[in-house]
Amino acid sequence: MQIYLVGGAVRDKLLGVEVKDRDFVVVGATVEEMLARGFMQVGRDFPVFLHPETKEEYALARQERKQGRGHRGFSFEFSAATTLEEDLIRRDLTINAIAEDEHGNLIDPYGGIEDLENRVLRHISPAFAEDPLRVLRLMRFWARFFSFGFSIAPETLHICREIVASGEIKELTRERVWNETVRALLTDAPEKYFEGLNAVGALSVILPETSHFNLEAMNNRLTQYKKNSSDAHWRLAIWQWKEDGVFESLKRNLHLPNLFVQAISRFNDSADALQNWRNISAKEKFSVLHKLGSFKKDTAVFEILSLLGIDEKIREQIRAEIQVASEIRANNPEFSQYKGAELGEEIKKAQIAAISAVICKEKI
Ligand code: ATP
Ligand code: MG
Repeated sequence: MQIYLVGGAVRDKLLGVEVKDRDFVVVGATVEEMLARGFMQVGRDFPVFLHPETKEEYALARQERKQGRGHRGFSFEFSAATTLEEDLIRRDLTINAIAEDEHGNLIDPYGGIEDLENRVLRHISPAFAEDPLRVLRLMRFWARFFSFGFSIAPETLHICREIVASGEIKELTRERVWNETVRALLTDAPEKYFEGLNAVGALSVILPETSHFNLEAMNNRLTQYKKNSSDAHWRLAIWQWKEDGVFESLKRNLHLPNLFVQAISRFNDSADALQNWRNISAKEKFSVLHKLGSFKKDTAVFEILSLLGIDEKIREQIRAEIQVASEIRANNPEFSQYKGAELGEEIKKAQIAAISAVICKEKI
């Protein structure tokens, strides 16, 4: 059997970026031989093995046959006779189809090295169209490597448009779409993921309501604010900001985890007010800080302030306001004559008054 390093590890090494995980392909071996060598079989759809010591992934070389619709409509063929070239041709992009043997020799039957040098994302063969997830993967790679100067080959954009026109994007599960999206949000240029999907018509399939959205403004805001947070949930919050209906669409069409739903709701409840903090009333301030749980030691307000790049003076002021309002408690003697809803109202009034006093102090 021969073992080759493939995929992202070879690509990233050639690009000079840190290699995170390494994938291997094994040519000329059977499942039985792998098990006999102590590899552990994992993977539901096709045999992937974990190396007995390093626990890195080793897959048997395979060919694919498209059977049904969508991402899962494949059958796989394994045979010890499957060649490296046959395995590489079923991959998505030329830059992801370079192999390295154990002596460090590169095997590159589909021009991946040249495309890496020319900074081109290009599909390998027409079989690219057989898996609609590849459209999303492509745009995610564009976002990830945008700062290296990568562009997408015109013929690859063309095949993506054909995939979209075929209706296959709709077959992708919300989970798979979400998985690509969240990974794209963590790249250096997440706005390119959305821009790329839009350019081939896929965004309005994934989020059917997007035709009403001002995508350019959304992407511009993401470009402007992304440096302030590397969290996917805050970046998505920025993207949907100020565009009515986007949050609803995200919730409806993607598998948005609770963390994202919470973060985006809180962001929408507070971002405009935080940006305008000097000009809003103490009552409005109270309402925002109350919703964010700031009086109960929740620190979301400071995360949102950082995300918006709001200056230290305002941050200090808000810290002081939270401090004074939190010191007002139900068991303070001044509230002894109140109970229930009335008590709640009195505390709130006192908290608002305390917040206004902080403003006065700043103005003196
Ligand atoms: P990353 O650094 O994000 O892991 P990667 O290129 O290694 O990038 P993986 O998802 O780990 O991506 O996949 C490993 C390799 O398997 C890819 O480089 C590609 O050759 C191939 N591959 C993965 N998913 C697909 C797919 N949906 N269609 C075709 N080839 C794929
Ligand atoms: Mg990988």
